Amino acid sequence: MKIAFVTLGCKLNYAETSTYERQFVKAGLEVVPWKEAADLYLVNTCTVTETSNAKSRNEIRKLHRINPEARIIVTGCYAQMKPEEVRGIEGVWKVFGSAGKATLVEDCLSELGLPVEGEVPKVADSGSVFGAYSSGERTRSFLKVQDGCDNFCAYCTVPYARGRSRSVPLCEAVRMAQEIASQGVREIVITGVNTGDYGRGSLAGESFLDLLKALNGVEGIERYRISSIEPNLLTEETIDWIASGTKFQPHFHIPLQTGSDALLSRMGRKYSCAEFASKLEYIRKRFEHPGAPKVFFGLDVMVGLPGETEELFETTRSFLEKIRPAFIHIFPYSKRPGTPAAEMEGQVSAEEKARRVKVLEELCARLHSEFEQAHKGMKLKVLFESSVKGGMMSGYSQNYIRVSRPADSDLFGKIVEIEY
Ligand code: SF4
Repeated sequence: MKIAFVTLGCKLNYAETSTYERQFVKAGLEVVPWKEAADLYLVNTCTVTETSNAKSRNEIRKLHRINPEARIIVTGCYAQMKPEEVRGIEGVWKVFGSAGKATLVEDCLSELGLPVEGEVPKVADSGSVFGAYSSGERTRSFLKVQDGCDNFCAYCTVPYARGRSRSVPLCEAVRMAQEIASQGVREIVITGVNTGDYGRGSLAGESFLDLLKALNGVEGIERYRISSIEPNLLTEETIDWIASGTKFQPHFHIPLQTGSDALLSRMGRKYSCAEFASKLEYIRKRFEHPGAPKVFFGLDVMVGLPGETEELFETTRSFLEKIRPAFIHIFPYSKRPGTPAAEMEGQVSAEEKARRVKVLEELCARLHSEFEQAHKGMKLKVLFESSVKGGMMSGYSQNYIRVSRPADSDLFGKIVEIEY
């Protein structure tokens, strides 16, 4: 039986799809590219913006056109939020929301009368967290250690789509990291919805720092990155430990969202701009020494939040100028039905949002180039990937600078010191 996969959205979705794929292959199915006519398709959907819902529907319809006889399995956040809408699309065979993910493969195989080969990993604890990791890439793997969120920021649908915060038991996270290491992968990006919230409500009382320490001990993995972490959950104790010579790299992806305290509190964010700035300063002090690579800060910023006047937008722009991140991930606010922000006054027009995105893109380009320039002539450790373009291979340094060099297959998947 042939199966093909389509994944939309975040790193979590990619880790989950990759895990389903390994389970189906273990059960004897053959994986084919989605363009090919398959007997089964699995679509892992996203609902972070209204556009993502439409994209998810289009993907399902496209696959039905490719093979009208095929059975289409749909999972992910859109399936969780709008199961009936999804069931109404032609070709859809099964719909799995968050609660159904852990037994998705088993349910499908038994319905198809196919034997469930060996032990299909089940979730280990009552919080029904489906542990997952991405495979197929030789250099790095996304390891899902946490799911859900309890914050309910005013603009966000994720807590409704992915449920309350819960964690993969530490032993299961370590087992998956060892499995990843056995595949020759050197770098792991730990991921979740609110990754720093790892351990909340854990029966065993396992904390985020416990997780980092346990993963740090896994043989074969040489580098870790944290995919994204809320500023208030990145404690000084954790920073001190990370900076004390561990496998965790000087690269932090932190959601700021806005540089206006008025908007931070309106959106229900759990920190002030002053606290945010001093957190970055604390990290810089712990990591940055003369001649050492600088810390790479990638910050999420949302423009056009309801109530974001031109003045408040300028406050955000000048705050970013002051704290000087290496990169800004820019998101235009997307009105999500059912969220408090959708009902708020002061909605910003699409044209104005687009103008503000452009302003921050220009700022990001300048800050990113300054960050790279500051490392010219410096020794950096780069993990080279195996894909070659125009005779060149490339990879990321410890502080997330993209480096290219003439391709040398002996160096694929290896960490190499180069002069930048
Ligand atoms: S912390 Fe992140 S995932 Fe959670 S509600 Fe806020 S924006 Fe959404």
